[in-house]
Amino acid sequence: MPELSEENRTKTLPILERVRAEILAVAGEDKALIFQMKRYIAKRLEFDERGTPMQRRKLKDQMWKKQRGLCALCKGELPERGAELDRFKAIDGYTEENTRLVCHSCHRKSQEARGFA
Ligand SMILES: [Zn+2]
Repeated sequence: MPELSEENRTKTLPILERVRAEILAVAGEDKALIFQMKRYIAKRLEFDERGTPMQRRKLKDQMWKKQRGLCALCKGELPERGAELDRFKAIDGYTEENTRLVCHSCHRKSQEARGFA
């Protein structure tokens, strides 16, 4: 996925600045509260994009059963822990249709091939 264009960055930055200003307005000088509020907001934005850890765990279980515990790429047995969800298109999120369960090594190769990592 291409990065945010210069034009859209110009539209997005003021949103970030408003959020920062609102946090300061509410938290004042309380450094711990500022830290916690930023963490909380960052996590929720991440969940908007990736789903919650519980949703992803559930999807992993589903994909594990669907693929009978085998890596979608090398067909090797997936490790009990550490199998990874690979999205075909990041923007389409973590759904059964848009993901496959792969081993760490295949995931890394797949991301390199697409120009990530
Ligand atoms: Zn593999």
